[in-house]
Amino acid sequence: MIKSLKWRLVMMYVLLVIIIMIVSGTLIVTMLNNNAYKKIDDELKAAVQYIKELQVNEENIKSYISDYAELFKDKRVYLLNTRGNIIYSPLGVSDEVFNTSSVMAAAYDEPTKRFETVRLPNINGHLVEYRGYAEPTFQKDAVIYVLASTEQLKNNMMDTVAIIILAILLAIVCTIVLGFAFSNFLTKPITALTKKARDMSRGHLEDPIEVLSNDEIGQLTENFNMMAKELKSTLSEISGEKNKLETVLTHMTDGILAFDFNGQLIHNNPAAFELLNKEKAYTYNDIFNTLLESNYKELLELTKRDIVQRIIPLRDKYVNVCFAIYLNKNKNLMGMICVIQDITEHKKLEEMQKEFVANVSHELRTPLTTIKSYAETLLDGAVEDKDTAKAFLQVINNEGDRMTALVQDLLELSKLDNKQTKFKMQEINLNCLLEDIIEKYKIHAAKKNQSMNYQAPVAVYKISADVNRVEQVIKNIISNAVKYSNEKAMIEVNLNEGHSHVIISIKDTGMGIPPEDLSRIFERFYRVDKARSRAMGGTGLGLAIAQEIMEYHGGKIEVESQFGEGSCFKLYFPKTN
Ligand code: ADP
Repeated sequence: MIKSLKWRLVMMYVLLVIIIMIVSGTLIVTMLNNNAYKKIDDELKAAVQYIKELQVNEENIKSYISDYAELFKDKRVYLLNTRGNIIYSPLGVSDEVFNTSSVMAAAYDEPTKRFETVRLPNINGHLVEYRGYAEPTFQKDAVIYVLASTEQLKNNMMDTVAIIILAILLAIVCTIVLGFAFSNFLTKPITALTKKARDMSRGHLEDPIEVLSNDEIGQLTENFNMMAKELKSTLSEISGEKNKLETVLTHMTDGILAFDFNGQLIHNNPAAFELLNKEKAYTYNDIFNTLLESNYKELLELTKRDIVQRIIPLRDKYVNVCFAIYLNKNKNLMGMICVIQDITEHKKLEEMQKEFVANVSHELRTPLTTIKSYAETLLDGAVEDKDTAKAFLQVINNEGDRMTALVQDLLELSKLDNKQTKFKMQEINLNCLLEDIIEKYKIHAAKKNQSMNYQAPVAVYKISADVNRVEQVIKNIISNAVKYSNEKAMIEVNLNEGHSHVIISIKDTGMGIPPEDLSRIFERFYRVDKARSRAMGGTGLGLAIAQEIMEYHGGKIEVESQFGEGSCFKLYFPKTN
């Protein structure tokens, strides 16, 4: 199978030339052959007619033939009897019998079959072909039979055929050479177009092809150049869009996975693997086999109806995965897209909210239960006993105070959260403020036989703050130090400065905080020892409020603690310039 157009064209030319040459050659040969035979036949007939008209017989035929030797040149003339035996011939009489179909037809005076082609030995004894013609003589008792050799004619024909074959061969060679040049000329622009198309498929769309003519191929080239230009601009547009999309996908925090119809992973952004804690994966199964109960086909069926959403708890986080199918332009299902979001914070917040509501309810229920049971006891008659009634009412009052303190703390936190608290910022002298608070708390400490030391610094530290709020924070920390330290404990308060902060440190030799609780004591309602905290009238909100206030002032609280040995809280206030 010839694939190149060039060779196909050459083959077509060659075939065309062969067919034309063979047809015309055959026609020429046939025509020449027929003409030559006709000429021989005419000569034979003329010669025989001549003799016949002269009323030939055995005696006078000899002189006729010699008189008109020119007419009988190259011919064998016989006067035969009706059985075909030679009566006379210039070549001599022999035993030869010419009972051929033409001789027999003439003998019986049949008008047809007077001409014939026979093979007879020539003078040298070789069998050669002759054309024969026979006619009865005037008296009809003999037959004149003339033979003319067709050997020369045949040779001439062979020569003609040889010349025609040679011409065909020459024509083939010429056609191949010319056809090749011609088809080269025709296919040159097509080859250029093919090369360009190949280059285009590899992404080279720059150089246009030179338009060499104004014909159909020239127009095709022009259109091709135009197409390449259009394609280039469309491609650059698409690649721009693709780059944009890729940048978005690469830098987005949500993970994206795309699967084909069989669940093979065909695209993913870095966030996807990061969120799923995977290093590499190639299929849906590699990723979700252990994480989801549905296999790929089942999930595909589900997503055909609607978007499927699942929350997957991982080792250190929660992720929300959404699956949706995607279709091609003929609306055939192509595969599935999966979007992965980190919802750990959201989940944490949700849990914190739940925990907060549970804590509030719990904190309120305890005093309420106490109040209710004491009130019921009073109503049941205990009110009659004055001492008991007084003691019970004292309990109810204390619980009421506790609830009020709790509600106040909650309100304060809520205001801080909603940024409703108004801070009255002014320049305050931290030395004086601290000294005042320590004076007040020394009495509390003394009640527990605790010593509170404060070495007043030489420098005076002034900060910009809301004096009441700062006082509230310092009191909370000092009161905690007193509350969570046993008798004879030492509480040491210091005021000094760091690089950019004024630091108050309150160090106690109290019970300390276990390491696992240390990071959580600033959470709302978090208490290391709930019973002790409640017994001391604590709500578990003090440190949470203190931290919010410190953050509002641009400062922070830090804690260090050795469980069983003591704690040290540090308050950092930013220095004023
Ligand atoms: P509370 O009202 O319970 O005191 P806080 O928020 O002030 O609430 O404190 C939270 C928890 O931190 C306390 O319940 C206590 O367990 C722990 N804590 C605070 N200060 C100290 C301290 N100086 N020594 C030991 N534990 C402390």
